[in-house]
Amino acid sequence: MHRLQAIDSANDIPAGYHGTPIEKLLEYHNLETPFQIYSSAQLLIGMCMDNRKHLHIPDNFAYIIRTGGANLRYSEFKVSYAVAVGGVKAIALIGHNECGMVNLMARKEQFIRGLVDQASWSREQAEDHFMHFAPMFEIGNEVDFTLSEAKRLRLRYPRIVVAPLIYKINNNRLYLIDEPGSGTTVAG
Ligand SMILES: [Zn+2]
Repeated sequence: MHRLQAIDSANDIPAGYHGTPIEKLLEYHNLETPFQIYSSAQLLIGMCMDNRKHLHIPDNFAYIIRTGGANLRYSEFKVSYAVAVGGVKAIALIGHNECGMVNLMARKEQFIRGLVDQASWSREQAEDHFMHFAPMFEIGNEVDFTLSEAKRLRLRYPRIVVAPLIYKINNNRLYLIDEPGSGTTVAG
């Protein structure tokens, strides 16, 4: 299990992120640093669609793609757009605890019954829908998934800085996922 790094002061931000929009994101959201004025996006944020999260960031600072589990595997064209046309130099991938995309199988019956009751789907339609898509959207464990997704994005977009983070919904703070040996770990 990977450790989460709390960011409670500027000293907690690893040197590998200094001077990048990742540092700015952590300062704005966690450290209440006053907002700068932005005329163009600096960062792409990938985060879960979950309703319990709100980022404290300035206008124009970031593109945001929200998906189940911060899974960007099916949003690649939008990622490419933010990089190529939007000109962003960094991606913050933000998973969170208590994510609904963890252990989807446990919610199978609730999912099917919900579609039948609330959207008038037939039970068979709802079952097929769940069984087709649940394996694509299951993330397993939010920390491991966010880290593996960050690694995938680094290979896909080699010159873009990609940071794996976790949003804790109990205190609304961002944590970096510790990556020993990556140069993005806090010294000491
Ligand atoms: Zn989620």
